[in-house]
Amino acid sequence: MLKRVETTENLDLFENAKQQFERALTWIDGIKVGIIDYLINPKRTMHVRFPVHMDDGSIQTFHGFRVLHNRVRGPGKGGIRYHPDVTSAEVTALAAFMTWKTAVVDIPFGGGKGGVVCNPKELSRSELRRITRRFVAELGDAIGPYTDVPAPDVYTDQQTMAWIYDTFDLMHPGKNNLAVVTGKPLDIGGSVGRESATAQGSLYATVQLLKRSVVPGIESLEGARVAVQGYGNAGAIAARLFHAEGARIVAVSDSRGGISNDDGLDPEEVLAHKNETGSVVGFLGATEISNEELLAYDCDILIPAALECQVRADNAADVKARLIVECANGPLTMAADGILQEKDVVVLPDIVANAGGVVVSYFEWVQNLENQQWDLEKVDGRLRKKMEHAVDEMVDRWIGLKEGAKKGTVGGGSAPTLRDAAMVVAIERVATVVLQRDIWP
Ligand code: NAD
Repeated sequence: MLKRVETTENLDLFENAKQQFERALTWIDGIKVGIIDYLINPKRTMHVRFPVHMDDGSIQTFHGFRVLHNRVRGPGKGGIRYHPDVTSAEVTALAAFMTWKTAVVDIPFGGGKGGVVCNPKELSRSELRRITRRFVAELGDAIGPYTDVPAPDVYTDQQTMAWIYDTFDLMHPGKNNLAVVTGKPLDIGGSVGRESATAQGSLYATVQLLKRSVVPGIESLEGARVAVQGYGNAGAIAARLFHAEGARIVAVSDSRGGISNDDGLDPEEVLAHKNETGSVVGFLGATEISNEELLAYDCDILIPAALECQVRADNAADVKARLIVECANGPLTMAADGILQEKDVVVLPDIVANAGGVVVSYFEWVQNLENQQWDLEKVDGRLRKKMEHAVDEMVDRWIGLKEGAKKGTVGGGSAPTLRDAAMVVAIERVATVVLQRDIWP
């Protein structure tokens, strides 16, 4: 077992989001202080409390949050998660990440996020339905096709999105309300390619990054040893797609633990095992490992695809991967970023790495508003173009920032990371619209 070093690192995700933002600002000239304050803090935070009738006849009160971080570039956009650890600070940080994510891939949305404090593993389907319907009713017109558009996230899925749509539609009869939420089932306005979009986007972004020779010693996925933390929508599909591209999946994990096999795991068989037993643990022919051991696994590429703050000051030095692809949102703390940069570990940042989901959510929104149904070729082709372009812009900006750092004109003496470059592109894009719209009264 790996030893855990005690740490006093601040694991508040919004503090991390602020630090990322403030660090990126050292590479940008001339943003006024008032605009900086406006850009980092959320436009609106909703905290609702609502009672729900449980299956055993009792009544329980639930807390839900929806944060609209910024909407100067378009309606808020971002997932809703159901998890016992959801907090206002976490949802605010995730909403801020969405503002930068939609900007860096250049889709006409702002940033939003939501969550309900609950444990879906202990709730029945009908309890989840009642929680969802009541939460949506409480949010009222805070969500809507042109105001703020939710999507799936941790422990929410197509079914949750169908309930959200249905409840909103009941509240707004006589209109085409499909675009109020994305990630819906195909038969009620979902888009082909949405379910696999996050992982598909991560694959396209990774392949493009490798093509740009940013990761010393790894030119392609052929034969690359990959470890994946989290085996849900993002992680399990990433394992399948990276495997199909020639990578060897040497370790995977979920909330109950991990498994490894240096000869390679078959991602489809692991998924079948998880669907049958509820976990990847216990998969035949694999060695059981902990989540801490997975993060430190001897591999070329580590894909954190579970929750935030997984790689921190206390375990970043143990990482052996040469590339980290942030499928999850905020899986690395700022302290971890620094340690990994010193170790020459390249990090493909979340706002680019997992943007495929929101890109195809945008395609779904467009199809809903226009009553269109695109085929997979069109969705996938456009997704690929968006992801490759975003990676190219980030890498080009990174090269530019490095030049600036050498001259000492920007960066305050430090070397830029890809995260800095992606954040610079995103912040400049949002700040430009703030100035063009002249948003002041
Ligand atoms: P999901 O609910 O489908 O899967 C989450 C997985 O993480 C599950 O396998 C679960 O067992 C595992 N997990 C939970 N806690 C864990 C822990 N402590 N250690 C290891 N594994 C743990 O969720 P998802 O939609 O795949 O989201 C995963 C991450 O990807 C989140 O950070 C989410 O914000 C991000 N993301 C998702 C999407 C999307 O479209 N679904 C888009 C962008 C980003």
